[in-house]
Amino acid sequence: MELWYSEQHTDYVRFSLKIKEQLFCGKSEFQQIDILDTYEFGRALTLDGYLMVTEKDEFIYHDMIVHVPMATNLNIKKVLVIGAGDGGTIRELTRYQGIEQIDMVEIDEMVVKACRKFLPQTACKLEDPRVRIYYEDGLKYVRRKENEYDLILVDSTDPFGPGEGLFTKEFYGNCYNALKEDGILVNQHESTYYDAYVEAMKRAHKRIMETFPIARVYQAHIPTYPSGHWLFGYASKKYDPLLDLKEKEWNALGLTTKYYNTQLHKGCFALPNYVTEQLNEA
Ligand code: SAM
Repeated sequence: MELWYSEQHTDYVRFSLKIKEQLFCGKSEFQQIDILDTYEFGRALTLDGYLMVTEKDEFIYHDMIVHVPMATNLNIKKVLVIGAGDGGTIRELTRYQGIEQIDMVEIDEMVVKACRKFLPQTACKLEDPRVRIYYEDGLKYVRRKENEYDLILVDSTDPFGPGEGLFTKEFYGNCYNALKEDGILVNQHESTYYDAYVEAMKRAHKRIMETFPIARVYQAHIPTYPSGHWLFGYASKKYDPLLDLKEKEWNALGLTTKYYNTQLHKGCFALPNYVTEQLNEA
């Protein structure tokens, strides 16, 4: 018998992976959690039937969410990560010796437990002594913080279910307050190739633009996400991701990355015309 996982990308498009076996299946207070072993993409985490991470292409997402802001300000010391229960974002952050503290706020402890057991490739640095994990809603956590973080990474699910609050004006305003005067916010910003996702992306962009003086969008190619084209939001009170890129200094760190490099950093802010139009409409 053949086993296939299928994700509905639109009413008329499905993305399917052939499965070797299901490694984990659990239902938490927040969502359905599954970990599958696939033939082409290795192990994969799905939440409520949506692919979050696969072993084969997670490096693209995690390189791009972490190294773009880190190469813009090499003095980042205190980081807040919201979501990110698979641990991949934390793994990349721990490669920077200069980072002193990483606070991770994940709503769902069951995701972290399952990833620790079945996805060690991404969860491998959750024990780093600089990492503190808080199991609570990121929306509530950030309300209590003021002038504390150099960088906030929002590595969340989509703008429905438990992740919905992380795309609101209130949340972005609270992130602004939680950041220091030269703070940077990077969020996963959805994709706009399919019509179903356009309005959510525009709304998020509008809210971020209204909150931060510098707000840009950059892109990456992520094969297992709808359309394979994904966007990230970059916002800051001070640093422009292109004018302030510390190219020589970042390269001098000698970090080996499989996707990110400083040439790509400059290129990823150049967006296709249809995306630029959507952002202008926002
Ligand atoms: N890279 C993935 C993507 O963009 O598809 C995201 C992966 S990560 C596993 C997303 C995490 O965000 C999930 O573990 C989920 O439990 C967590 N999450 C969703 N809403 C949250 C909230 N309001 N506060 C904190 N964590 C949240």
